[in-house]
Amino acid sequence: MSQHIKLFIPGPVEVSPGTFEAMSQPMMGHRSKGFQDLYAEIQPQLQALFGTKGQVYLSTSSAWGVMEGAIRNLVTKKVLNCCCGAFSDKWYDVAKRCGKQAEAYQVEWGQPILAEEIDKRLATGEFDALTLIHNETSTGVLNPIVEIAALKAKYPEVMFIVDSVSGFTTVPMNFDELGIDVLLTGSQKAFALPPGLALFTASEAANARAATVPDRGYYFDFLEFRSNGEKSMTPSTPCISLIYGLQHQLKVIFAEGLENRFARHERLNGMVHEWVRRNGFEFFAPEGYRSKSLTCVANNREIDVAKLNSILKAEHRLIIDGGYGKLKGKTFRISNMGDETDATIASLIASLDDAMSKL
Ligand SMILES: *Cc1c(COP(=O)(O)O)cnc(C)c1O
Repeated sequence: MSQHIKLFIPGPVEVSPGTFEAMSQPMMGHRSKGFQDLYAEIQPQLQALFGTKGQVYLSTSSAWGVMEGAIRNLVTKKVLNCCCGAFSDKWYDVAKRCGKQAEAYQVEWGQPILAEEIDKRLATGEFDALTLIHNETSTGVLNPIVEIAALKAKYPEVMFIVDSVSGFTTVPMNFDELGIDVLLTGSQKAFALPPGLALFTASEAANARAATVPDRGYYFDFLEFRSNGEKSMTPSTPCISLIYGLQHQLKVIFAEGLENRFARHERLNGMVHEWVRRNGFEFFAPEGYRSKSLTCVANNREIDVAKLNSILKAEHRLIIDGGYGKLKGKTFRISNMGDETDATIASLIASLDDAMSKL
């Protein structure tokens, strides 16, 4: 694989040979006992990761499928979209494209979403749902999910829909304790699987709400996921290869142990942060709200990020990300999520130092 360029972009991330090997197992019918056994085997592990006694669903789509699906299933009055970067801003756009009443609580990119600001807006009584991105991948902001989720007790009628696509399994997340209504993630971020599989769980209140919504569609109908899930199946033919990959990654995750996994992400993220400080760069996200899975570096030194990346690619066979959308060149992002180790991040840092010396 001499063409192999290792990805330190915040998704898709590097996929291990062991995962690819697991994914190359023969196909089976998705209504066969073999598939039901696979589904049932991984269910308790997924429930432990999500921190829920409820079902965890497998959707053959990227995360956006479930993000759009949650809007279609749960919004009847008006949704409050908490917007702090490219993914969260897009969710507001998606809500409107679904024909829903929607309002943006917009903060400047790089800033976090604050519970007291949500509280003020929900107090109007206009909303029956809100969307929140836990770890805004475009800006490297980790939003204060515990404080925000605490508002659910005050507004039980509001569906709290949370995307932890790039935060999931890098920091603790406990769905049942948070008391939120939907938690969703995708395969190509910290799970370190190829893209194409989304995972989510939904509260009983969410399913009850969905039951009142006539035009939920089919492919992302929460009630289809629930009734099929009860039989250890998915509504339509799933990405079986990715589910074999997931089975493998779950073994890897639980062999390491969740606490160790969180500590490793924190430690590797800290190594990248140290490199940022040593090189006189600043962080795009404020202290206290920084992601543990990636670092969004403010390019205050105004280096040529495209050139840095081309040296990394040509001479070190790896790439970082040159900044998302309107932040291109103004920031750059370095991922430490997935299967990375102290050794691979140390090697990345040596490569960054070499490339910086050649700018
Ligand atoms: C990557 C990402 C998504 C989108 O995932 P797709 O796989 O492209 O659908 C959504 N939200 C966040 C926070 C992400 O990082």
